[in-house]
Amino acid sequence: MKRTSSSAIRESNRSSVVEMLRRHGAMTRADLAAATGLSRATISSLLTQLSTAGMITEHRPPTEGGTGRPSALVSLDRTAGLAIAVDIGVRHVAVAVGDLSRRVLAERWVPLPHGHSADAGIATVLDCIDQTTAEADARRDQIMGAAISIAAPVPRTERRLAVPGVLPGWNSAALASAVGERWDVPVAVENDANAGALGESTFGVLAGAPSLVYVKLASRVGLGCVLEGSLYRGGGGFAGELGHITVDLDGERCWCGLRGCLELYAGGDGLLRRLDRAGARVEDIADLVRRAHDGDAAVLRAVADGARMLAVGLSSVALLLNPSAIVIGGELAELGELLLGPIRQQLAEIPFGPPTEVVRSTLGDRASMVGALALVLTESRRFGDRSGSVAPSA
Ligand SMILES: [Zn+2]
Repeated sequence: MKRTSSSAIRESNRSSVVEMLRRHGAMTRADLAAATGLSRATISSLLTQLSTAGMITEHRPPTEGGTGRPSALVSLDRTAGLAIAVDIGVRHVAVAVGDLSRRVLAERWVPLPHGHSADAGIATVLDCIDQTTAEADARRDQIMGAAISIAAPVPRTERRLAVPGVLPGWNSAALASAVGERWDVPVAVENDANAGALGESTFGVLAGAPSLVYVKLASRVGLGCVLEGSLYRGGGGFAGELGHITVDLDGERCWCGLRGCLELYAGGDGLLRRLDRAGARVEDIADLVRRAHDGDAAVLRAVADGARMLAVGLSSVALLLNPSAIVIGGELAELGELLLGPIRQQLAEIPFGPPTEVVRSTLGDRASMVGALALVLTESRRFGDRSGSVAPSA
């Protein structure tokens, strides 16, 4: 009996170490001891066991000035498990394969033709996954799971889209089943702004910030929040629909059915529609960004109106959630200070504590894709790693 319980303790300690490395990426031995509450000697013995099984690697970062040698960093090896990430946008499919040390091993982007059928879309995704896994040299038994980021609201308990009209023809449940069957792994479907928030908090310029809000400004307006280290989805999975808060009680009706939604003023489609009505010929979001930087008066007016509405909306978000930072991503983030300036100004008016930091995403259009990767790599309850096969030796 004693042997059983001591090996159970050892097994539980080993799980804690693997869990910490999944959640934090590379860590020093001292950090691992502090985070798990285990002694340095126990950590050392567990790491030897994991290293023998090929589950971890240890490397010493290069010395930067000074005289002291930096501590070695421990991270999980690709043997411990790989993840597949799929990002489906309105006009593209992106696939990445990554490992538990948070390295992206291979990545592929393909355009989606306008008006494509769902079947053709699913075939494109599966083909793209085949090519990316081959490039990453990923064996079937190494894959822990897959996550699909999709530009649509996703209910918490079902994998279908809540509003099918957003991405015509797509059925995410059929796609998730097809990926799950092909690779025999669990598959999660996540809203793209939620995935973006996870991407920013795991791989972005403010990685590790305890509470972070990510705003995706593209054709539409989305928001994802990581609160105290975890993605917040809300009761039904629809938290963060910033684009549909009311900014004008008497405003026009939105495609969602509500009136005066923020998206109509600050989203790319809304901005283009308003400019069109004002007689300005602007082709698409890229053209809008270009004209704004060139000083086109009509475009600058529309952008200033949208930025003001967005700033008011984000001010409410900051008052409600008090995040440590707001990261602005999506195609419209290319507007830079034309957008970020008014938001910072508005947030500086808040009298409680220091103003929330506002930064532009450095991950750009990769945020949702690497976020889908982060979902599989960090959610150990849904996606088991391959280290469980290490037999406890004590
Ligand atoms: Zn709406």
